[in-house]
Amino acid sequence: MKNNSENEVLANVTDAHSHLWSPEFSSDRAQVLQRASDAGLVCIVDISYDVDPELRKKEARDLEIDLVCVAGVHPHDAKDFYELEKTLLSQLSLGSYSAIGEIGLDYYRNLSPQDQQITVFQNQLELAIEHDLPVVIHSRNADRDTYQILEEWAHRVPRNHGFDREIGMIHCFSSDPALAQKYIELGFLISISGIATFENVKEAPEVVRHIETNKLLVETDAPYLAPVPHRGKRNEPALVVDTIKFVSALKKVPSQKIADSSTQNAYRLFRLNDFNGDL
Ligand SMILES: [Zn+2]
Ligand SMILES: [Zn+2]
Repeated sequence: MKNNSENEVLANVTDAHSHLWSPEFSSDRAQVLQRASDAGLVCIVDISYDVDPELRKKEARDLEIDLVCVAGVHPHDAKDFYELEKTLLSQLSLGSYSAIGEIGLDYYRNLSPQDQQITVFQNQLELAIEHDLPVVIHSRNADRDTYQILEEWAHRVPRNHGFDREIGMIHCFSSDPALAQKYIELGFLISISGIATFENVKEAPEVVRHIETNKLLVETDAPYLAPVPHRGKRNEPALVVDTIKFVSALKKVPSQKIADSSTQNAYRLFRLNDFNGDL
């Protein structure tokens, strides 16, 4: 055991949300994956549906990383849903995706009209029921509507995999502990991003302190939201370790324990059964 936790190399690390196949990584994705592997990552949740999921999984598998593929139309693109839907449906029919996402509401940037965002969100929640998949939720400045829609949906989701398995995750959670608790009660995991490490963000540390580790995920949302001390640079999965260490310090729980629980939680949510730890 190393004494200097700052430099401690972790094992069994998961990045619970990233966009590794976005154009920002097209010139050096192999190196980014290698750095992730060197940083102890065993699992990356990848949000995209443009590139063959099996090819993506293989590229990661060569470095002993499980890639969890997630497909969905982002609320920013809700206005184009009817053009994107065909591709999404044909991708989902491949059976290689582990969740629908990221879906939800973004009233901060409002890149699509809010009524369309709501319809497209609800359509995709129904798709998740049809395909028997969990969901990855994006919600910004839309707490009330997102919660209301998810509450109604959560009560209709057939819990085919038992009530011990969550039905989704709230990615990049940035609201208060009370709302986090309400989502947990509906059957969601709460995912913390590098935003928690930003000095001007007051609520995220409170959320981290309140949530039990068995309901907590840690993510990068790469290439966005690089955690301190990398803020402003391109983010990448290896940097999830910085947020794990931040969470560890706040919760006064060893970093390796946070890494282990986040990985266990992700494997349970996305139903990856080859994980050796206790589910
Ligand atoms: Zn998002
Ligand atoms: Zn994202």
